[in-house]
Amino acid sequence: MSVEEPFPREINYLRVSITDRCNLRCFYCTAWGTWEKLPAPEILRYEELLRIAAVAPKVGIRKIRVTGGEPLVRRGVVDFIQALHEVPGLEEVCLTTNGVKLQELAQALYDTGLRHLNLSLDTLERDRYLKITGSDNFLEVMAGLEKAAALGFNPLKINCVVLNGINDDELLNFALLTRDYPYQVRFIEFMPTVDPERWAHHFLPMAEVRRRLKVLGPLEPLEPEGTAGPARIFRLPGFRGDLGFISSVSDHHCPTCNRLRLTAAGRLRPCLFAGQELDLKVPMRQGATDELLASLFQDAIRLKTCESGYRSLDSPLPGRAMVSIGG
Ligand code: SAM
Repeated sequence: MSVEEPFPREINYLRVSITDRCNLRCFYCTAWGTWEKLPAPEILRYEELLRIAAVAPKVGIRKIRVTGGEPLVRRGVVDFIQALHEVPGLEEVCLTTNGVKLQELAQALYDTGLRHLNLSLDTLERDRYLKITGSDNFLEVMAGLEKAAALGFNPLKINCVVLNGINDDELLNFALLTRDYPYQVRFIEFMPTVDPERWAHHFLPMAEVRRRLKVLGPLEPLEPEGTAGPARIFRLPGFRGDLGFISSVSDHHCPTCNRLRLTAAGRLRPCLFAGQELDLKVPMRQGATDELLASLFQDAIRLKTCESGYRSLDSPLPGRAMVSIGG
């Protein structure tokens, strides 16, 4: 089944939020505490998630990233990831985590066949970690990272949202991690979700991030991977790991955006910034066929135009905390 859509891009990547619960309270991800949790019955059950995952390859999805909320707080997540690996047509299963439970679960996750792991980490300082996340789990996260590296997760990506005035004095320290470790450290522009004024206060454009990293040497560009997202990847001469830059705000990447999102409530979201969501849960619970679910996917792909992405403070915002949309 192929879908005609207005840009020469293949929509092959689905980010699946399996829960809107999280064990951290990062101030920017919870949109300064405006985060409302779903009642448990509203969250898709694993068998429903697996049914959607089985339909997705019929419309071209080849890669699924499990996210949240914090996916590792949901009971049964390891079995779910194991089952995803068995879905015909899915070529890549990835996980994004804050790493708090990684030390405990890394081995079991590795044993499912999972190799693609993204760890969100915005600071390398314990006190600051507490301030950003509201939680004193820095040492656990670092232990989890070490364990994941020792097991051989690869690619192992560290996602750092750059927050002006909060962690922008750590850019060099993050980049220097790639001198000693084969990680991909990715700097991500802070995106506005609900409060443009507070967002503007902490926004730092990626061009400025790159300018500050110049002291480390010339950035050598690398080719992006097949189903890779919007990151531009580089390596510093002689370094073991890579650096990625994601400029979702200053250089919006709509024409190459290859992703859809599924919220924990079972709504398919064509674009982070466009408000539209297509409900899969209610039709599925009312007995929808796989064909109907596939046609809803196709509708979502058709709705994925290039007019919705973030362009200026006049652009519509997601209107919800990232933790509840599924980052
Ligand atoms: N709990 C998991 C984690 O921490 O990776 C998965 C969900 S979390 C919503 C996914 C990512 O979204 C995190 O890296 C977080 O830093 C990022 N994020 C949240 N709000 C953001 C924003 N306004 N702009 C850019 N990234 C954001």
